[in-house]
Amino acid sequence: MQPSHSLPISQCPQTGRRRIALLGASGSIGASTLDVIRAIPDKLALFGFSVHRGVDRIPNINAEYQPRYAIVTDESSPRSMTGGGSCEILKGIHHLEALVQHPEVDIVLSAIVGAAGLRGSIAALSAGKTLALANKETLVVAGPIVINLAQKQRTPLLPVDSEHSAIFQIIQERGIADVERIVLTASGGPFRGKTRAQLQNVTVEQALNHPTWKMGPKITVDSATLMNKALEIIEARWLFGLAPEQIQVVIHPESIIHSFVEFCDGSVIAQLSPPDMRLPIQYALTYPERVPGPTKRLNWSTLRSLTFEQPDHETFGALKLGFEVARRGGTAGAAFNAANETAVERFLKGNLNFLDITPACAEIVASHPYHAEPALDTLMEIDSWARKEMQHWRA
Ligand code: MG
Repeated sequence: MQPSHSLPISQCPQTGRRRIALLGASGSIGASTLDVIRAIPDKLALFGFSVHRGVDRIPNINAEYQPRYAIVTDESSPRSMTGGGSCEILKGIHHLEALVQHPEVDIVLSAIVGAAGLRGSIAALSAGKTLALANKETLVVAGPIVINLAQKQRTPLLPVDSEHSAIFQIIQERGIADVERIVLTASGGPFRGKTRAQLQNVTVEQALNHPTWKMGPKITVDSATLMNKALEIIEARWLFGLAPEQIQVVIHPESIIHSFVEFCDGSVIAQLSPPDMRLPIQYALTYPERVPGPTKRLNWSTLRSLTFEQPDHETFGALKLGFEVARRGGTAGAAFNAANETAVERFLKGNLNFLDITPACAEIVASHPYHAEPALDTLMEIDSWARKEMQHWRA
């Protein structure tokens, strides 16, 4: 990947602001994105947004940001909705395409959780829109298709995941050419330092108690299993065009260093900031400019130490699986992601043991009907297949 600043990002010709379509406004990334837009009103404006079940958020968002469109993607929502003001409220996932492709949209921020985010991401890139990608599943499921589409359309693809934003910030000067390896940091989640025996009877509540990041339930469980880092290995592999051997993971419990880049001369550069998603979101939305925003600052007078540990592969098998999926490519990412999404749903409902999540996913990846160069509809078939397999999986 080369720096994208040679590809200009459009803006409103009258106001000079970038008009944003925010997909997934009611989640944790959605809320942080709205904070960023609020803090930088001379540069950013909300053009439209989508929610799935969070319809109760619509009136407040409309009152504050006065967007043109609100999309409710959950088909089971009540037919008529009020609280729109001058905003048009549309129901149905098919309206997402129309929103992201609207001529007045400059940047699409994709923050929908899971493989459901793929549709909006592909629609945005197909329309030649700049895509700020918080939905890592887009690249895990369909990395080569998405990257090729962005290159063909000459459309900037800006990472929002904090680790990938860190790497993207570090390589701005010369791109990925001089990079020998990247090191993704991982907080280790709530169960860092625990043994398998201690994790036999983990509850949902314990898994949702993340020590450094406040996030939605899916990604919080993924952090507890380290599946989140497995997904990020695959995301980095496609986003930066790296071989899996060029990616390493180190545990860094303070979540202040968001990743390292090691160059071919042995020099290592890191990006630091408090664990606050508003920074990577802002960097993508104002890219390549840096401006003052709402992000908390590091307090250098209280900072004492930054610590590192090696991952415990015995207890957390997810990283090994992530590397394997990154190496296989093809349909492996789609099978892996769908299996994991369904496993997390089952765990949250109390019908899958925490320690079974990773081995169940590994089994489904190993047994799925693999294709090396799948088209998008094949990936969708594998996605459905893996979800069904995981629904019926028994230890
Ligand atoms: Mg991350």
